[in-house]
Amino acid sequence: MARDAALRAAILQSVEDGFAEQVAYTQKLVSFASQRGEEFAVQDFIFNDLKARGMAMDRFAMDEAALTAHEGGAPFSATHSRAPIVVGIHHPRQETGRSLILQHHLDVVPVGPRDMWEHDPYGGEIVGDWMYGRGAGDMKAGAAANVYALAALKRIGLQPAGTVYLQSVVEEELTGNGALQTFLRGYTAQAALIPEPEDEKLVRSCVGVLWFSVEVRGIPVHVREMGAGANAIDAAWRLIGALREVEARWNAEAPQHPECAGVEKPINMNIGLIEGGDWGSSVPAWCRFQVRVSIYPGQKAKEKFQELVDHAMAFARTDGFLAQNPPVLMQNGFNAEGYILAPSEAEDVLAGAHEAAFAAPLESFCTAAYLDARVYALYNRIPTLCYGPKSKGIHGFDEAVSLSSVKRVTQTMALFIAEWCGTEPI
Ligand code: ZN
Repeated sequence: MARDAALRAAILQSVEDGFAEQVAYTQKLVSFASQRGEEFAVQDFIFNDLKARGMAMDRFAMDEAALTAHEGGAPFSATHSRAPIVVGIHHPRQETGRSLILQHHLDVVPVGPRDMWEHDPYGGEIVGDWMYGRGAGDMKAGAAANVYALAALKRIGLQPAGTVYLQSVVEEELTGNGALQTFLRGYTAQAALIPEPEDEKLVRSCVGVLWFSVEVRGIPVHVREMGAGANAIDAAWRLIGALREVEARWNAEAPQHPECAGVEKPINMNIGLIEGGDWGSSVPAWCRFQVRVSIYPGQKAKEKFQELVDHAMAFARTDGFLAQNPPVLMQNGFNAEGYILAPSEAEDVLAGAHEAAFAAPLESFCTAAYLDARVYALYNRIPTLCYGPKSKGIHGFDEAVSLSSVKRVTQTMALFIAEWCGTEPI
């Protein structure tokens, strides 16, 4: 016991000692503008870095045919990333402990209008406790924590006594195909830990997410003959109203889903993008919009998408224009089901590590966002711990991560790895 206490103290101190370097590493990751399709450079960086740290390396492409054939795979659109997936593998000298997957994603969402940012989106500027930048929170700080939780053990002459897979993926923000590819490649372990920015809490349950596009087409005419033409933008507007009825109905079913209790509005439908028409004085012939909607944990993605299609088509039949020009709904991204985390020994170990780092009990919650964790929970079927630092402005402007929070989370992770995998001298 005394030895355990001494080891725990040494690990906490080692994270502290390496933290300045960890911050610089996080800034380096933030400096890569790794939007969809542009993650090659950052994946190269992490490949070379993990290799230099002594890991055995694997790098592979996402397999379109295999992914789209899988029930949790998302369709490949023209903008789907072709960047590789990178896995660094730590092999212990003697496999006496349990194995572990540490995952992060290095793709980030677009920055939006630059003049809405006070800080450089790729600068990694630090003001007080916050580091700013696109992806600082979601989730380059987590990626750095994966690397530096292991580095903290190494600094005191230890390494995990179980195999550790450090999996660096892309396509988390639009399809989840990167994480699914690691499963299809055959990677698995006795637990997975993903340090997404979760406010220092553990994700107990997670909604599923669907992405689809809706297209409406009509006959273009000059505005003075508008009675004769059909306005595709007006029709799309009415159709959005009909889809909102489904959202309201699903939210009304919340009491049947106690795993989402405490979430004010578990089902969120976002119309994230709309385009249509060609000219101010022509009645628009076309309109297309992009929808993201969540579904409850345990619900089937294909069935829920069909429910949306059926509702849209039933509405279209009652609409003068849409009855003649039925809309086309097409899945073009997330086709992901949610999950509920069952209690496990891995969770107990994380809770103990969190208490040692934070001097407070570990809380858990239901998240209304997509998580790659669903791959490990649903398909690998292993305890999947999604847990990470405090952040603000994720997917918005002036995204930032709390550095004091990152440090404590990294301490939790290093303690967790030491206990879950056990340790051996280097
Ligand atoms: Zn994320």
